[in-house]
Amino acid sequence: MLTKAEYIQARDKAAQMMKDAGVVINQKEIEEMDVADFGLNDLMVEGGQMLTFFNTDRISAKVIALFPRQTLPEHWHTAYGQDPGKEETIRVIWGTLYFCREGENTLKMAKIPKGKEEFYTAREETVMTPGSQITVEPGVKHWFQAGDEGAVAFSFSSSARDALDPFTDKNIVRITKIVD
Ligand code: ZN
Repeated sequence: MLTKAEYIQARDKAAQMMKDAGVVINQKEIEEMDVADFGLNDLMVEGGQMLTFFNTDRISAKVIALFPRQTLPEHWHTAYGQDPGKEETIRVIWGTLYFCREGENTLKMAKIPKGKEEFYTAREETVMTPGSQITVEPGVKHWFQAGDEGAVAFSFSSSARDALDPFTDKNIVRITKIVD
């Protein structure tokens, strides 16, 4: 849950980060930005700010801003009807992003949020800086955390049905409640 004031503050700060990273965005897109606390009520620790350029039945493009050390919780993309699940490419354009996916445990720079070890099982870490990109196949668990300055990244993918994606932490609610 976020208050309206918390939502606006996070949204506008994220919009400024996106603009500073050189991304051209319009006011309508900013006003529709998804500020997600994943129902965990600790936005600056586990959360994310996602602005959608478009999301059709086939393709999707977004820009994601993460505040310093903010973590987008572990999740994966499942099949939906004929769609085998979202294939997603994350391309960093500003800051540093610690990207973790299923594989050999090479976790070094990312810090799993306190007490949440069981919800962060994907531990093959890649340190991403502007110009680096990673493509994640459907079904592969992943999560990512911004470095000490924050991060801005593009997310290019097949159609996004994020509200249906499972998270390792079953306490997560994907649609953030915003209250007055
Ligand atoms: Zn994902």
